[in-house]
Amino acid sequence: AKYTKQDIIDIVQDEDVEFIRLQFTDIFGTLKNVAITSSQLEKALDNKCMFDGASIQGFARVEESDMYLRPDYDTLAIFPWRPQQGKVARLICDIYNPDGSPFEGDPRYILKKVTKKAKDLGYTFNVGPECEFFLYHMDDDGQPTTITHEKAGYFDLGPIDLGENARRDMVLTLEDMGFEVEASHHEVAPAQHEIDFKYDEGIVTADNIMTYKLVIRTIAKRHGLFATFMPKPKFGECGSGMHTNMSLSRDGKNIFADPSDKFGLSKEAYYFIGGIMKHIKAITAITNPIVNSYKRLVPGFEAPVHIAWSAKNRSPLIRIPASKGESTRIELRSPDSACNPYLALALCLAAGMEGIEEKIEPMESIDINTYDMSEKELKALNLEELPSNLSKALDEMEKDELLRQVLGDHVFNIYLETKRKEWREYSSQVTKWEIDQFLYKI
Ligand code: ADP
Ligand code: MG
Ligand code: MG
Ligand code: MG
Ligand code: MG
Repeated sequence: AKYTKQDIIDIVQDEDVEFIRLQFTDIFGTLKNVAITSSQLEKALDNKCMFDGASIQGFARVEESDMYLRPDYDTLAIFPWRPQQGKVARLICDIYNPDGSPFEGDPRYILKKVTKKAKDLGYTFNVGPECEFFLYHMDDDGQPTTITHEKAGYFDLGPIDLGENARRDMVLTLEDMGFEVEASHHEVAPAQHEIDFKYDEGIVTADNIMTYKLVIRTIAKRHGLFATFMPKPKFGECGSGMHTNMSLSRDGKNIFADPSDKFGLSKEAYYFIGGIMKHIKAITAITNPIVNSYKRLVPGFEAPVHIAWSAKNRSPLIRIPASKGESTRIELRSPDSACNPYLALALCLAAGMEGIEEKIEPMESIDINTYDMSEKELKALNLEELPSNLSKALDEMEKDELLRQVLGDHVFNIYLETKRKEWREYSSQVTKWEIDQFLYKI
């Protein structure tokens, strides 16, 4: 562990921290927090802070709603954008029942359980995400819009890239909070950006993704802009993904690497791919959790549609990046940042581990762009597609025993029920597209 209880008390004192935010993530991937003053810190560090679980969507029923927050000491971080006197810090928490057992609906606990299983077999799960986002203008009432005046594209720079100043500030803030930022650049669509930080163990990366999104939104606002991670805010333009780069290491060595293989991959890496491919249709319900997610997964925008893998091109579900050695990894290209990263990573790891345990061989790799193939060519290759909407993904999820087992009954059932409702509500909407298409001619 990085910090002891006394370390935290000392840091809070020395740094003049006034407020501590106790954070956790709900089932649907929303960051929640309760703020305490430093006078309550010791109580919080002794796991005595309570909250009403019934008020958090999907957590608990009213009769049994008391829950306890247990701060993870190692997650202490000070928010650099808050005042320098009377600072604000945060601690990420695990959630416990009054009887002292971990709450089975806590996404962080679900990822911890799978991580432990992998650890017991000697594996460390390393993950590096690429979270894309848009920076849009706000209107005169401070409400978000999808308006941008910029026309920059991939790797463009200022003065065309109007988000450049905001992005620089985001990078510096992330670094202040301990992130190792590897790269940042303008993305393909106007007003679209990406900032990449270094991979870490699954649980740390999931925490980092939640922090990253908070930082991006906060700093955007300071620049008078609005940041969104919505997967497909605009028809006809690229959507925002969360490519998820994964590898396993053992005793500090990347075990996905095998220089003697034609793609530089080990047996474990192939089986891991096999396991993910076996479960990807069901996993999509978690990695692509909202109605809008499926509007990104269409041909022509570098987002995957077909269940295939490649070491060469960027249209399939899984890509093997060219960098080898310690950087040997597989890149899962379907997830988007609307997902709960704890649940998404728990499922990827569990599916990959099943692949290794059961020696699941993946299909042959595909080195042509699947967008350009005809129906006939696709048929000949026997390529399957990802679910084309949320409803189909939920059907796949419901059938998949691995998902029920990893998520546990509580999350599995609540997730399906809530998302089915979301789908029904969406399906009954009358959209502008329908009015434009049908009003005048029917
Ligand atoms: P792309 O070429 O797809 O744009 P990026 O360079 O934007 O990829 O992002 C690559 C990500 O992969 C980074 O987060 C990086 O830290 C991560 N990464 C590098 N090596 C590994 C590894 N061995 N395991 C997991 N992630 C890794
Ligand atoms: Mg990238
Ligand atoms: Mg790169
Ligand atoms: Mg990108
Ligand atoms: Mg990528």
